[in-house]
Amino acid sequence: MATRRRIVAGNWKMNLDHAGAVALAQAVATGAHSCGNCDLILCPPSIYLDAVATALELADGGSPSGVALGGQNLHDQPKGAFTGEIAPAMLVDIGCTFCIVGHSERRTLFGETDSVVNTKAKAVLAAGLTPIVCVGETLEEREQGQTAAVVTEQIAGSLAGLSAAHLATSIIAYEPVWAIGTGKVATPEQAQEVHALIRKKLAEHTDEATANQVVIQYGGSVKPDNAGVLAAQPDIDGALVGGASLKAEDFLAIAEQFAHAS
Ligand code: PEP
Repeated sequence: MATRRRIVAGNWKMNLDHAGAVALAQAVATGAHSCGNCDLILCPPSIYLDAVATALELADGGSPSGVALGGQNLHDQPKGAFTGEIAPAMLVDIGCTFCIVGHSERRTLFGETDSVVNTKAKAVLAAGLTPIVCVGETLEEREQGQTAAVVTEQIAGSLAGLSAAHLATSIIAYEPVWAIGTGKVATPEQAQEVHALIRKKLAEHTDEATANQVVIQYGGSVKPDNAGVLAAQPDIDGALVGGASLKAEDFLAIAEQFAHAS
C-alpha cells in the first residue's frame, strides 16, 4: 500500500474573534509536536489570516511552528472589481499554502457548482497553493442510493482538466453533508467505501500511481473519540475538522490519532 502523508485541517468557518483566533493558533502551534508526522493546517476566517500567520510564525515566509495556513474560500480572478472577495495571490501573500474549495456550505448556501469549484481549484493551483477540494452527498441522496453517482459526478466536475502532477499534490475531502456539524459521523466502513471509490475515480482520471499519492480526508463530525477508527481505514489519510477544530486539545487529539495510525 502506498505511504501517503497524513494531513488534518481545521476549518474554523465564521467563528471566533481576533483574540480567540490568535489564542487557538498559539495553542495548536505549541502542541503540534505531539502530532508526529501528521501535518496540520488551520483555516481561520479570512479577516484573521494575518493574525494567525503571525501566531504561527509564518509572517516572514518560514514555518517554525510546522503548522500551515489555509484559506476557506477565494475568488478565481487575480484582481479587480470584485467587492468583498480575496484573490489567490493575496492568500499566498499572507502566508497561506492551502485553500479549501467547494465546501458543502459554499455549494449549498452560495450556489457553487462543480464548474465553479473547478475554476477555483485551478486558480488555487495556478497560485502555487494546494486545494482541499470537498465533495459529498446529502442525506436524501444517500437514502436514495445515489452516493456513488453524486460523488463520481462531483469528482469529475470539480477536477476536470487538472494534470496528473496537480492532482497528485491536491487534497480531496470527502464530507457527507449529513455528517457535517450534526454529530452524525459516517461509519468507518461507509467512509472507506466512498474514499476507495474516489481513489478509483482519480486513477481513471489519471493513473493508479498518481491516485495512490492523493491525500483523501474525511470530514463530518470528526472528534477525538471517533478519529482512531477512521484513521485506521486504508484510504482515509486525514480529516477536515469543523467544530472540534475550535478546541486545540480536541484538534490535536484527532491529529495524534492520524499520526499513530499505521
Ligand atoms: C466541516 O465543516 O468541514 C466539518 C467537517 O464540520 P464538523 O467537523 O463540525 O462536522
